[in-house]
Amino acid sequence: MRSPSPAIFFDKDGVLVPDEGTLLPQSEFVLEEMVELLSRLRCSGVWKLFVVTNQAVIARGLITPQELQQYFTRLQSTILKRSAHAYFDKIYYCPHHPHANLPEYRVLCECRKPKAGMLTMAAEEFNLDLKRSYLLGDRVSDVVAANLVGCKAILCRFDFGTKRVVSPEELMKMVVTDLSEREEKDKRAFATIETPLQLLKYL
Ligand SMILES: [Mg+2]
Ligand SMILES: [Zn+2]
Repeated sequence: MRSPSPAIFFDKDGVLVPDEGTLLPQSEFVLEEMVELLSRLRCSGVWKLFVVTNQAVIARGLITPQELQQYFTRLQSTILKRSAHAYFDKIYYCPHHPHANLPEYRVLCECRKPKAGMLTMAAEEFNLDLKRSYLLGDRVSDVVAANLVGCKAILCRFDFGTKRVVSPEELMKMVVTDLSEREEKDKRAFATIETPLQLLKYL
């Protein structure tokens, strides 16, 4: 069997596209530097690239899995138009929520971050070495999920300009709320970056 590959996992809201605070996934605004990062990682031939995103909008019944899939297809083709190398191996999403409106999604699942189910699923499907992998996220739940399986967590503080409607203060509040519930060691990120290409100095 081929030796396991390292991977880079990307959270969607606040990393790949701005966290606009809207319930429905609709933004296709991807930073130019992010397109370049994806393209460079792909061209290196080293990394597998994935999106891992909580999408409780499904559990709330606000959109269907088919509509979410259509959004992902649009997002991926928007990125591909800007660079032919900037594509993901797969987009994983968790449709569940413990207090969902729709009973079929009202479960305490293993995939909703801060759990690491999406990472372990990808590792099985693509033969990944999680210990050599990275997860880029903007919340403590991303950091915790990464640390659970030995991925290096990279906390992203990207400036999406006017596209970001979640204020830094609000973000801090979310982080602090999460923090009080977690073990100190689990919430520690390997590094914090302010622009996508800064990741390269840690690889
Ligand atoms: Mg996020
Ligand atoms: Zn789930």
